[in-house]
Amino acid sequence: MALLQGRKGIIFGVANEKSIAWAIARAMNNEGAELAFTYAGDALEKRVRPLAESVGAKLILPCDVTKDDQIRAVFDQVRTGFGHLDILVHAIAFANKEDLKSDFVATSRDGYRLAQDVSAYSLTVLARHALPLMEGRHGSILTLSYLGAEKVIPRYNVMGVAKAALEASVRYLAADLGPKGIRVNAISAGPIRTLASAGISGFLEMLHHVEAKAPLRRGVTAEEVAGTALFLASDLSSGVTGEVIYVDAGYNIMGM
Ligand code: NAP
Repeated sequence: MALLQGRKGIIFGVANEKSIAWAIARAMNNEGAELAFTYAGDALEKRVRPLAESVGAKLILPCDVTKDDQIRAVFDQVRTGFGHLDILVHAIAFANKEDLKSDFVATSRDGYRLAQDVSAYSLTVLARHALPLMEGRHGSILTLSYLGAEKVIPRYNVMGVAKAALEASVRYLAADLGPKGIRVNAISAGPIRTLASAGISGFLEMLHHVEAKAPLRRGVTAEEVAGTALFLASDLSSGVTGEVIYVDAGYNIMGM
């Protein structure tokens, strides 16, 4: 039987066919999951809808995660359409471009707040709404992080601080939701070319550095991240929660 046969999931964070969330969605769909998708704005609907429809999705809903009314509407429609939920994928991050260019010390209050709200707090609010739909179903919640949460990566700045909050949120949520049988984990992915990564100054430098120094002497693909997402969403990882799992060709273990 396919790994996710009969499971129902929702994917937050598909922007286009290069999105890590899209690779995850395809892998989950190939393993039998029925999926709902969200998109962040009208402009994105044009790109997300055809992708979502290509994997048979019927629930394709608007959701800017800074808007509580939109989040509520998404979960109301998931309750009506699916009845319950087994998987939630959170692949969302945003920071102002100017905050990813200069020194971290220059981060504005508004820039800090925005990065935290979209990239970290959103996991907590989505988990809270998913909870009643996941209770008693061994639900799995996954998010995407990056090494900049723990180590200084030049110009990752406010996003690194948001990812640190995101990883801490994974642990607190795992502790809260574990007694209800719901697992919460993060994947810390190596650099991959996507719309979001294009906004980080010096991204190609980051990528080339990993290719030169990582134990596997290469970067990783979105499909490799999706493989670990599949593991975390399935019963293969039934004893794993509160973890940050690296899919980075081993780069994080290197000291020099
Ligand atoms: P992506 O395709 O650009 O996905 C980022 C998604 O976040 C987009 O769908 C974007 O929608 C969405 N988003 C931004 N603000 C939002 C909001 N207010 N409400 C709802 N959605 C919003 O890039 P990606 O690289 O696949 O990123 C997915 C996740 O992986 C992110 O958390 C990222 O930090 C993480 N990650 C990426 C890498 C990498 O190198 N690519 C490495 C490690 C971790 P819009 O396009 O409309 O803004």
